[in-house]
Amino acid sequence: MSSSSNSRRQFIKQTGKAGIAMASMPLIHTLGGLQLREEVNYIQQPLPYSFNALEPFIDAMTMEIHHTKHAAGYTKNLNDACVAEKVDIKTTSIIDLLESISKYSTKMRNNAGGHYNHELFWQSMQPAPATTPTGEFLKEIEKSFGSFADFQKAFTEVAKNRFGSGWAWLIVNEKGELAICSTPNQDNPVMDIAETKGNPLLGLDVWEHAYYLKYQNKRADYISNWWNLVNWKFVEDRFNPFKL
Ligand code: MN
Repeated sequence: MSSSSNSRRQFIKQTGKAGIAMASMPLIHTLGGLQLREEVNYIQQPLPYSFNALEPFIDAMTMEIHHTKHAAGYTKNLNDACVAEKVDIKTTSIIDLLESISKYSTKMRNNAGGHYNHELFWQSMQPAPATTPTGEFLKEIEKSFGSFADFQKAFTEVAKNRFGSGWAWLIVNEKGELAICSTPNQDNPVMDIAETKGNPLLGLDVWEHAYYLKYQNKRADYISNWWNLVNWKFVEDRFNPFKL
């Protein structure tokens, strides 16, 4: 790596941390030497598609309630907790906060996780038809899991078996390897308290609020339909080292 790319990267990291107004400036999230795009700040972003865009796999009413009530609530409560616990959101990135979440309250943990997880979740979906991973990223999936179908099977099992509310994740761990894991409630693999740590590439919300109106108790059907909606371009962009 040249020193000019080093300093530019450092510049972007610091610029990104300088203020929440720079929403379009990606932060570089480093873990084990691997660099990823990091574009979540403290503000809830508009959905990148309409409430009904994910029909028939996720219904418009679920999307509207999920985005405008549940997720909006996490964002509001996160900002309230930051005021109460004196977190300067102009100088503390969401990643910084999550990586030291054990220092804060349960309210902070639940809502910082809830905000970050949902901001990723909306972006990681797109209207059908289904897409699949390509290129180098597909090769990584095959290296780690055997095939794309084997990966989907393993991820589906983890998502189905998460007891109660939580998330299933595809992460890149500290060794730069792909892995599947799961977290309870609104925890995520960025948190210092997480059992399995890593950079989230793709997360699936398996809280009942994400599917109950259409699927009731049939979480497995929600998961199998959700595969039609994964935005693999977004996931791949998070995996590919950020070249400057
Ligand atoms: Mn949710």
